[in-house]
Amino acid sequence: MKQSVAILGATGSIGQSTLKILADHPDKYHLYAISGFHRIAELVDICLQFQPEVVALPQSHVALFKDLATQKQLKQLPALLVDEAGLVAIASAPEVDVVMAAIVGAAGLSSTLAAVKAGKRVLLANKEALVMAGEIMLAEAKKSGALVLPVDSEHNAIFQCLPQQYFSHRQQNKQPQLGVSRLLLTASGGPFLNFSLEQMQQVTPAQACKHPNWSMGQKISVDSATLMNKGLELIEACHLFAISEHFVTVVIHPQSIIHSMVQYIDGSTLAQMGNPDMCTPIAHALAWPERISTQVKTLDLFEVQTLDFCPPDLDKFPALKLARQSMREGGTAPGILNAANEIAVAAFLQERIKFLDIANLVDAVLQQSQFESTDDDLNVVMAADQCARDKAAQWIRQYGVQ
Ligand code: NDP
Ligand code: MG
Repeated sequence: MKQSVAILGATGSIGQSTLKILADHPDKYHLYAISGFHRIAELVDICLQFQPEVVALPQSHVALFKDLATQKQLKQLPALLVDEAGLVAIASAPEVDVVMAAIVGAAGLSSTLAAVKAGKRVLLANKEALVMAGEIMLAEAKKSGALVLPVDSEHNAIFQCLPQQYFSHRQQNKQPQLGVSRLLLTASGGPFLNFSLEQMQQVTPAQACKHPNWSMGQKISVDSATLMNKGLELIEACHLFAISEHFVTVVIHPQSIIHSMVQYIDGSTLAQMGNPDMCTPIAHALAWPERISTQVKTLDLFEVQTLDFCPPDLDKFPALKLARQSMREGGTAPGILNAANEIAVAAFLQERIKFLDIANLVDAVLQQSQFESTDDDLNVVMAADQCARDKAAQWIRQYGVQ
C-alpha cells in the first residue's frame, strides 16, 4: 500500500528535498496535497510533475495560480483550499497518512498541530512550532497516537543514536533514560564562526544567508549565523527527548559531518554521520523503521580526513545563551524568544537592523516580558507570541533604521 503524503511548505527548501525523495520512490509514496505561500509558479510546477489532488495557498494568489496553471497547461486543476483553514484541512485530511511540516516559523503552528491531533505520522521540520508549543504538541500526540519524527538533522541523528524504545519511555522527570547520559548537539558555527565581533557588526543579509555547508531557506540561514538556530534546536531537543537543557551540550563542529551524538553511562558515544544533505533525515523519517535509498553521496572519510570540535563562544553568539535561559525559564519564555527572533530576522533581512541587533532585540523583549505557565492552553501561547511581536516592532521603531 502506498503512503499518502501532504507537504506543508512544498515550495521551500525542505519541501523541495522531500519532493526529490518522493520522485525517487513512486511505488511507495503518493503526493496527495501540497501548500505554498508566495512562490506560486513553483507550486504549479509541482502540480505538473506530481498531480496532487489538493493545493493550499493564500486566497490572494488563487487567481494567479489558475492563470499560471492554464499557461503551463496543467491538465487537471487540483482542489484549491485557502489560507490557514486550507493548511489545517490538508494536514488533517483523512486521505493523508504522512504530513511533512515544513512551513517556516510560527505560521506553521496551527497546521502542524492539526496533523498531530489527527494522529498522522508527522515529519517535523518546523521547529518553531515545537519551541512555541512543545508540551501541548507532545500531549496531543500522546492522545491521538501521532508519531512525531524529527527531520531536523541533529534531532534525527539523536533519534538514530538513541535506543529504539526511547521515545515510548519518555518520562516526566526530564532525566535521561535507558543508560543515556547526555546529548551532544552539533553546530557548524555558521558563516561567521571565525569573525570578530567588530567584523560581525557590518555583515550583510547576503553574507548571513550564505551557509558554508547547507543550502536552506533565508530565515534558518540567518538563525544559523546567529546560532539562534542552535538555541531553537536545544529547546526542540528538550521537548522531543523529554530531557532537561542541563543534559544537552552544544558542540561546534564546522564540517557538519557528525549530525549529533548520544553519550551513554558506560562511556560510549554514538554519532550519526553523513554528507550534509537534508534528503537523508527526510528519507529516514519517511521510511522509519525501514530505510529507503536517496541520491546523497555516501560519506568518504578519506576525503573528509579531519573532524574538528570546539565549544561555542557565547559572547560572540549570545542568542544561544538566551535560548538556553528561556528553556530553563519554561512556560511562555521560549515562545517569546521565538517570536522576537522572527521579527528581528525579518527586520535584518530588510536591512532595518544590524546583524548583532538580532540578539540585542531578543534580549530586550525577553527582559520586558513576564513569563507564565502555558497551562497547555494554546491561547496563552498565542497571546504571548503576539505581545512579543509588538514589543519587537516597538524596539525596531526606536532603534532600527527608519
Ligand atoms: P523556506 O523558506 O525555504 O520554505 C518555507 C516554506 O514555508 C515555503 O514553502 C513557504 O512558501 C512557506 N511559508 C512561508 N511563510 C508562510 C506562511 N506565512 N504561511 C504559509 N506558508 C508559509 O524554509 P526551509 O524549507 O529552509 O525551512 C522550513 C522549516 O524547516 C523551518 O522551520 C526550518 O527551521 C526547518 N528546517 C529547515 C532545514 C533546511 O535545511 N532548510 C533544516 C532543518 C530544519 P513560499 O516559498 O511559497 O513563500
Ligand atoms: Mg538543524
